[in-house]
Amino acid sequence: MGIQFGDVVFYRRVDKGIRDQFMRSAVRAAQERMRTSRLRAAEELGDWEEWRRLGEEIRRHTLEHLDYYLEQLSDRVHALGGHVFFAQTAEEATSYIRDVVQKRDARRIVKSKSMVTEEISLNDVLEAIGCRVVETDLGEYILQVDDHDPPSHIVGPSVHKDRERIRRVFAEKLGYTGSAEPEEMTAFVRQQLRPDFLTAEVGITGCNFAVAESGTVCLVTNEGNGRLVTSLPPVHIAVMGMERIVPTWEELEVMVGLLCRSAVGQKLTSYINCLTGPKAAGDVDGPEEFHLVIIDNGRSDILGTEFQSVLQCIRCGACLNVCPVYRHIGGQAYGSIYSGPIGAVLSPLLGGEDLYRELPYASSLCAACTEACPVNIPLHDLLIRHRQKTAEEKRQSPLGERLAMKAFGMVAESPRLYRWGTKLARTALLPWEEDGVIRQGPGPLQPWTSIRDLPSPERETFREWFENRRKRGERP
Ligand code: SF4
Repeated sequence: MGIQFGDVVFYRRVDKGIRDQFMRSAVRAAQERMRTSRLRAAEELGDWEEWRRLGEEIRRHTLEHLDYYLEQLSDRVHALGGHVFFAQTAEEATSYIRDVVQKRDARRIVKSKSMVTEEISLNDVLEAIGCRVVETDLGEYILQVDDHDPPSHIVGPSVHKDRERIRRVFAEKLGYTGSAEPEEMTAFVRQQLRPDFLTAEVGITGCNFAVAESGTVCLVTNEGNGRLVTSLPPVHIAVMGMERIVPTWEELEVMVGLLCRSAVGQKLTSYINCLTGPKAAGDVDGPEEFHLVIIDNGRSDILGTEFQSVLQCIRCGACLNVCPVYRHIGGQAYGSIYSGPIGAVLSPLLGGEDLYRELPYASSLCAACTEACPVNIPLHDLLIRHRQKTAEEKRQSPLGERLAMKAFGMVAESPRLYRWGTKLARTALLPWEEDGVIRQGPGPLQPWTSIRDLPSPERETFREWFENRRKRGERP
């Protein structure tokens, strides 16, 4: 799939998202649930701000010493008998994984918990060599069965579908005849997946955190499929973004606590899988072969820049659940596997500024995302920085907007021009005024006023009001 899905232009995606009432209400309901549980879980923890500061410190420290920790992680995995591959690009990563799969002559692959494999389009590469790749996380499975419908949330990729829609998908694609009860549908999916778990030759997972001191890969899940993917097939390939690392188990404990509470409002999820190397002599289960693929794919270009803090992200999705814009347009309107506020910051950095130039503008800058982030990423500041870059450095804002801003700058710098401008504005806008508001303004005001009412300028300017009161001897 890659970071981008579809090639529909941004405003059409937004338009579609806004019109899709069904998606909007499904997203809103899921968002409410997750937000409320997160708040409750944070309250239970005690001084949430203190925990956030600790989380931020750990992530920042790790990023500042990333080379050291990556080397330590790699040495540990090697010492345990695993293989480590550092991939600079998506192509390097996918061709390494393809080689591992081909050497084993593998045809059946099960996957769990991985956004980064979508980022590098791994499924496409493996399917092109004749492999059957099965997503085993329930949300991902639903999307895969539904003709590879794109994800709409970082934590709940199929939140835009309700149970009835899921029932229909299963009935149409898999011949399901049961009800829309989640328990029944889940039991059905379990039956579908069981043979895949038992016959897969390779299991592929992402990695929530890797512990540098022990060479451990940690997967945080609620479904239990992660354990099957990593212990049944003879080969396990874990794919991680190079920033998903913590120095020791002590920091892992803090980060897992923050992740579970922020993502699903739980103290811990049902399964915290910690996997250290391949099966050792005497172990009853586990893979014979373990590969850790560490992906850069544009991340090192972010290190050392004003956007570095975005790499602190632990993909909890809390910023999506409080975002008023995400709630209105749905995750698919972002056109990126990384949706919501974090997606609006990250997608232009990883997927290209040209492709995602509009995303930083799709924000009200209310800062709710920054407030919710468990590792204190200043998301709204980073969105403003993106806008500044687009407007000032890249000069990619529309010509009309640039000219309007230039004209406003000139007028605002000159008291005389400003006085005239404010007087003239009212007269100039009179033809579009109706009951004190402009509903369909001219020129650059048109897109703005087509969805909002602009109060028409007052008859008396502030300066006139002030001066008149002063003349009348009233307190201004
Ligand atoms: S930016 Fe913060 S709130 Fe959003 S997904 Fe990342 S860690 Fe979670």
